[in-house]
Amino acid sequence: MAGDGDRDEENETLRRRVAALEAELERSRALLETIFAHVPAVFYVKDAEGRYRYGSRWGFRVFGVELEQAIGRTDAELFPPALAERFAASDRRVLDGQEMASVSYALPAQDRPLHFAGVRFPIPGPDGEAAGICGFAVDVTERIELAKKLEWLATTDALTGLANRRRFDEQIAAEVARAARSGEPLSLVFCDVDHFKRYNDRYGHQRGDACLVEVARALDGVVRRPADLAARYGGEEFALVLPDTGQEGAANLVERLRAAVRELALEHEGSEAHGVVTLSAGVATVVGSWTVEEVIELADRALYEAKEAGRDRHVCVYEEHSPASVGRGR
Ligand code: GH3
Ligand code: MG
Ligand code: MG
Repeated sequence: MAGDGDRDEENETLRRRVAALEAELERSRALLETIFAHVPAVFYVKDAEGRYRYGSRWGFRVFGVELEQAIGRTDAELFPPALAERFAASDRRVLDGQEMASVSYALPAQDRPLHFAGVRFPIPGPDGEAAGICGFAVDVTERIELAKKLEWLATTDALTGLANRRRFDEQIAAEVARAARSGEPLSLVFCDVDHFKRYNDRYGHQRGDACLVEVARALDGVVRRPADLAARYGGEEFALVLPDTGQEGAANLVERLRAAVRELALEHEGSEAHGVVTLSAGVATVVGSWTVEEVIELADRALYEAKEAGRDRHVCVYEEHSPASVGRGR
């Protein structure tokens, strides 16, 4: 029975090869599982029924679940309904082919929101239908926080905490353009501390700085609308950008501001006015199409007039395209 002996040998060889392949497959599976489990990112593979097949320990812990709990379970079995529904909605978008590119989402953590960025994509099955979903996202919280901090630093005045000159430049450009489109009035106020050089000379630079901080707080206190901007224009000069604000509204606001600064009652022996720190202000209100330079020039000229007229007062100018009508307030 030579033929049987040959077949037995063939079967044995085949069995050994299958066993070797199975062992190799098992090693690969274990290796993949180890890698996936240790990836310091949100990583998961879900099958077509939405059951987790693989995942990173780190990723599940972000959501308060252990890897061993997660494998073989669905979102509905693992997470609170609101979160599970969010994931389900996201899965539907992925399966509809809507969300294959990068994703960024914030999670409310215990102390601060966490931000992740990554990809989600369907895993193609043999029949062309999606056999599941794979998701991968890394923690970009620090990058987002750093970007926000940089943005804040780049647009905030270090001494007073008000918007800085850069932020002012951006805002006035945007509002001038918007006012041209809307036809609504736009007011720009420049205000400047009176005789501030004398203040520094008399009380020292540090008291000068403290005075500017107080004045800035008064400015911040009088702007009420979210679209209004109070900025430090430079030195002891401040600016208010007041969109959709006519001359009367702007003048009222400046009166309240000057009253607020007077009420700070910051002693200023060198000032002629009441012996306290005061402001002079120029208010420009424009309607229609203007350039930023023109609007700034108008407010600047009004401030100059207020200084020339004896300080501790404001001058308003109103311009509708061309001829100027000038009003004064004291
Ligand atoms: P006026 O009433 O015409 O505005 O007179 P002024 O003395 O306020 O104007 P001037 O432009 O002659 O002087 C401004 C002073 O403001 C001079 C400068 O040393 C001071 N100053 C500008 N920035 C700061 C700052 O950040 N801190 C302090 N302490 N002083 C500043
Ligand atoms: Mg001054
Ligand atoms: Mg000045």
